[in-house]
Amino acid sequence: MINIMKGTKDLLPQESYKWDMIEREIKEVARLFNLHKIATPTFEHTELFLRGVGDTTDIVNKEMYTFEDKGGRSVTLKPEGTAGVVRSYIENGLSQLPQPLKMYYETPVFRYERPQAGRLREHHQFGVEIYGADTPQQDVEVILIARTLFHRLGITAPELHINSIGCPTCRKSYNQALKAYFAAKQEELCPTCRERLQKNPLRILDCKEEKCAAIAADAPSVLDYLCADCAAHHEGVKNLLTKAGIPYSVDDRIVRGLDYYTKTVFEFVVDNIGAKSTVCGGGRYNNLVEQMGGKPCPAVGFGMGIERLVLTMTNVGASFGEVPSPDLFIANVGSADDAFLLTCALREQGVNAECDTMGRGLKAQMKLSDKLLSKFTVVIGETELKEGKAKVKRMSDGTEEEVSLSELANYINVKKG
Ligand code: ATP
Ligand code: MG
Repeated sequence: MINIMKGTKDLLPQESYKWDMIEREIKEVARLFNLHKIATPTFEHTELFLRGVGDTTDIVNKEMYTFEDKGGRSVTLKPEGTAGVVRSYIENGLSQLPQPLKMYYETPVFRYERPQAGRLREHHQFGVEIYGADTPQQDVEVILIARTLFHRLGITAPELHINSIGCPTCRKSYNQALKAYFAAKQEELCPTCRERLQKNPLRILDCKEEKCAAIAADAPSVLDYLCADCAAHHEGVKNLLTKAGIPYSVDDRIVRGLDYYTKTVFEFVVDNIGAKSTVCGGGRYNNLVEQMGGKPCPAVGFGMGIERLVLTMTNVGASFGEVPSPDLFIANVGSADDAFLLTCALREQGVNAECDTMGRGLKAQMKLSDKLLSKFTVVIGETELKEGKAKVKRMSDGTEEEVSLSELANYINVKKG
C-alpha cells in the first residue's frame, strides 16, 4: 500500500460539499464585485518565480518544488498565485481590456514547508488580482472582497491588520535605518537574518525565530519613513476604511513573505481557538508588472487559504450548508428496472432522484434511503406501476400522500422546499 505524501491531503467525498459551499460563495462574491475568473497553469518556468516572488524570500529560497522536465527546462510548481497572473496579463495584452481589470483565481499552491495544522505542502488559494488602479478605493475594495466572503461564510469577526511598506523611494532610507539598527545586534540574529541584513533587511521583520522577532519588535517603524505619496495613500486607505465602517488596526511589523509588495499590505487574522491564524494576506504591488517586462501598471490583490477557511469555519461553528442528499429515493419491490427507469425520467425533469443499483431487498433499500438522508421515499411495485400512482413518504415526519407517477416530478419539486 502506498500512502499519501507528507503535507498533502485528500478531499474526501463526505467532506467535499464544504468546499463546494465555499466555492459557491466565492462565485457569488465574484458576481457582486464584478470579478472575472483567470486560471493559469500549475507549473511555469522557474525564472518566473525567481523574478516575480523575489530571490530573498523563504518561498524562493527554501520552499519551491523545482525540477527539470524531460526537455531539460527548469520547471516550478506554483508557490503562489500572483506571478502567473502577471505573466498572463503581459503575455495576453490584458491591459487592452477596460481597467481596472478585476480578476480572481482558485488554484493549488505548492510549498515545501514543515507540515502542521493549517500548513500543508499542497494547499489551495482563492485569490483576487486587480490591475490598473492606484487609488485607496481600490485597496479598500480588495479588502472588502475578502471581508464580504468571510461574512458570507459565517466568520463574522476577522481582525484586519494593515500596514504600508512604502515604495522603492522610501524603502531606501528605511533599509538604511534597519541596517543600522540590526547591525548593532548582528551577533544575536539567526544566520539567515545575518544574510538578510546584507541583502534585504526588511525580511528580518518576517523572521519566525523567537529571538529575531524579539529584536525586530523594537526596530524602526516603516511608517516613520514613508515618502509623501506613500504616506498620503496610507492615510487615504485608513480614512476610507473608517468611512466604510470597517474596523482595522495598524501593525507596522507586517511586511508579508513576498518581495513584490509596495504601499499597502494587509492580513486577516482569526482567533482560532488558542492560536491566531492568518487566513488571508495581500497588498499592493505597483512595480511587479513592469518588473516582469510589462508596461508600468499598479496592482493590488490577496490570497486566501481554503484549507484554513475550512478549519476556521469548523472552529467557529459556522455552517457549511445542507449535506447533499437525494430529494427522492425510489425503492422497488421486484421491479428494479422500472424503478431505475423512473429515476432516470425524474432526473430529466430536474429532480435529484436516487434508486438502488445493488439488488438490495426492500428493507435494505429503506435503510439506504435513510442513510442517504433522502427527503422523500416512494416504493414502486407491480400495483403502483399498473395504477400509475404511489404513496410518497416525507421522511422528516413520516406523512404519506398518494401521487400519480406522471405528477411525481412536479410534486417533489414543489414539496421539497
Ligand atoms: P503564513 O504566514 O501562515 O506562512 P503566508 O504569509 O506564507 O502565510 P501567503 O503566501 O500570503 O501566506 O498565502 C496566503 C494565504 O494562504 C495564507 O493567509 C494562508 O491562509 C494560506 N497558506 C499559506 N501557506 C499555507 C500552507 N503552507 N498551508 C495552508 N495554507 C497556507
Ligand atoms: Mg508562509
